[in-house]
Amino acid sequence: HNGPQNSNSDLVTPQSPRVAHVVFNLSLDKGFDYAIPPALAGQIRAGSRVRVSFGHSERSGFVVSVAAQSSHEGELKPIIALEKQNEQIPSHLLGLAEWIAAYYCCPKEHAVRALMPAVVRSGAMKHKQVIFVSLALRAANFGDDFAALTEKQQETIKYLHRHGAKPLQELQSEANVSAAIINTLCKHGWLIKEKRVVDRDPFHDDLIQPDSARQLTGGQQAALERVNASLDAGDAQVILLHGVTASGKTEVYLQAIHHCLQRGQDAIVLVPEISLTPQTCDRFRQRFGNLVSVLHSGLSDGERFDEWTRINEGRSRIAVGARSALFAPFRKLGLIVVDEEHESSYKQEESPRYNARDVAVVRGKREKATVVLGSATPSLESYYNCEVGRYQLVELPERVDASAMPAVELIDMAEEAALAGQAQLLSKRLKELIFDRLHKAEQIMLLLNRRGYATQMLCPKCGYVATCDNCSTAYTYHRKAAQLICHLCGVQLAAPDKCPQCQSKEIRYTGVGTEKIETILHALYPQATIARMDSDTMTTKDSYKKVLDAFRAGRIHILVGTQMIAKGLDFPNVTLVGVIQADSQLHLPDFRSGERTFQLITQVAGRAGRGDCAGHVVVQTYTPYHFALQAALKHDFKTFYAEEMPSRKMLDFPPCSHMVIVHFRSQDEALAADTAEKFHQGIQPLLEPAVQIIGPMPAPLSKVKTYYRFQLQLRGGSVLKLVALLRPQVVSQSFPKGVDVYLDVDPRSL
Ligand code: ADP
Ligand code: ZN
Ligand code: ZN
Repeated sequence: HNGPQNSNSDLVTPQSPRVAHVVFNLSLDKGFDYAIPPALAGQIRAGSRVRVSFGHSERSGFVVSVAAQSSHEGELKPIIALEKQNEQIPSHLLGLAEWIAAYYCCPKEHAVRALMPAVVRSGAMKHKQVIFVSLALRAANFGDDFAALTEKQQETIKYLHRHGAKPLQELQSEANVSAAIINTLCKHGWLIKEKRVVDRDPFHDDLIQPDSARQLTGGQQAALERVNASLDAGDAQVILLHGVTASGKTEVYLQAIHHCLQRGQDAIVLVPEISLTPQTCDRFRQRFGNLVSVLHSGLSDGERFDEWTRINEGRSRIAVGARSALFAPFRKLGLIVVDEEHESSYKQEESPRYNARDVAVVRGKREKATVVLGSATPSLESYYNCEVGRYQLVELPERVDASAMPAVELIDMAEEAALAGQAQLLSKRLKELIFDRLHKAEQIMLLLNRRGYATQMLCPKCGYVATCDNCSTAYTYHRKAAQLICHLCGVQLAAPDKCPQCQSKEIRYTGVGTEKIETILHALYPQATIARMDSDTMTTKDSYKKVLDAFRAGRIHILVGTQMIAKGLDFPNVTLVGVIQADSQLHLPDFRSGERTFQLITQVAGRAGRGDCAGHVVVQTYTPYHFALQAALKHDFKTFYAEEMPSRKMLDFPPCSHMVIVHFRSQDEALAADTAEKFHQGIQPLLEPAVQIIGPMPAPLSKVKTYYRFQLQLRGGSVLKLVALLRPQVVSQSFPKGVDVYLDVDPRSL
């Protein structure tokens, strides 16, 4: 493509910008200049959606900037048309997209695209219209000949007097009146039928109880004052609110938002994986009702379109949602709250690979908004930023009602195995406690961070392990479905009844998943109702809510699940939490494995004892001496931080440096390896001496979905310099056909 040519630039008035820089949905990482024709002068600005000719066809694209002249040599093609208003990109967010593209090293269009939901961007969605029936003037004061109407006609008019305008269909069913009667009344000037735009309701009329502000504890009050002071000063502070589980962080957010609204400013609340935390979302609606919009993946396209439009038109003032809610197009943003800021789900795993927590800080700075990061187990990044003075630390060290933190008990499973003569899944202590709680009609949550029945099928005769052809992992055995399933690519096959290699029938299943624990519990406690919550059982939108409602109502006694159950849930009757394999993540080849383990155990422990009865937590482990577990035992983040940081410092790992991973993927293993090697040789002479390189080497998951994966890890030195240096080497660079190369800046895992 030679770029648009041909020009009418002499037709444009001298004052208005003559050139628009337009990007397309094409992963080209560059835009093209077009001339702004006089008819559109003054109407086209950054964020406008325009139709232009491109190559041999017409396309729509977004104007990312306008200028007096173009650096493009030769004449420019004119913009053909300006497209509809509601498809404009909020232009004040374009600078944020530029920042994302530069920092996370992705094509600009990818970053611009992230600013709006696809359904808004496409311009195809329409507002929902409903036919409403309302009273005409004649009926408003029961006109002259009201008495001459039939009884049914009079009734209909009276009904509308009582209830106001009604959607046609509701009127028909509620007032039991036929379409014919309504039509006659319309014809004779009693009623008016008209189309009105209505919002689609993402809550499906699911009513909630309004509530009001609580009297704050001293700690909460102090925290609130810190946030409000920053709101009033407009000095864009970043405040890390480190509060133990149930310390009342959410109440602080709510009251800070109230203050923000009173100042005439808007607020964004980010929550991780909103479908897992419906309670959090409800609490904002309880306090602020209709002023709350939600933005998350569980919405239909129409709902998402309407919620976004409500924000864009200023009809809602608070956006609550997952990652993408960060781009809510508020124009008077005062506050951004990032709840559970340590969650790795804030990092997007596809381009643009941004971390919403970190971009929230950037948006806050750009728009002078205060940013509150909240967690019981802060990320080391955020805590370190407090230590070096970039963020302010505010602490809530106690639970709201001063209830004790749950007692955590570590069980050494090696000792347990020695006593029993073989490895145990459930310790004697945990089994006794479960029995005791069932007896007292209290509830139990058990965490095992692996789904399926067994994590490996192996043949003891010949050593065969059933492994996915597409991926470098063993199949997981799912007993109920009698299948082997690859958890990376989803391939399923019938579980064989003999070894495919030596035909032996002595097949063995090792490693344990949630399905097996559920089976064992059924056998041990036949009188108990047990439910399992993992991605195998949570297959529909409603299944999560169904299980949680049943658990809350006490119809389920034991809830077994993966990390899904560890997050933000608040069940007052849960007095026992068991962690079946606390070390399952501890030995992963990732420098954050200790941090993740500490977070998971502390968070799940926080689910216990939130009501009147004290909570108890049993953590089963083979490494009870590990400091991450020892710190979790005491809910002691500071000790964990103090013990973890020296090794991060010594090795110059995050948070002491930024990490950048260059990924190479191909179905051709040798080609991927070779490309990585050549890339390495190419960049090495360019790097600052402080930059350390590991690799190229196979990624920890060396093959996924038929793609071989290699990587180069870089860290140290200035991340901005490093990224600026790598960007031209990666973005819009040509690599051998069939190899994908991209950067991951501040990766969530290795
Ligand atoms: P966190 O977000 O830190 O886990 P929450 O805000 O969910 O804590 O508070 C835990 C519980 O305490 C909730 O049920 C909440 O309604 C209640 N709560 C919070 N603040 C107060 C307060 N000041 N007075 C009474 N109850 C409170
Ligand atoms: Zn696979
Ligand atoms: Zn075999």
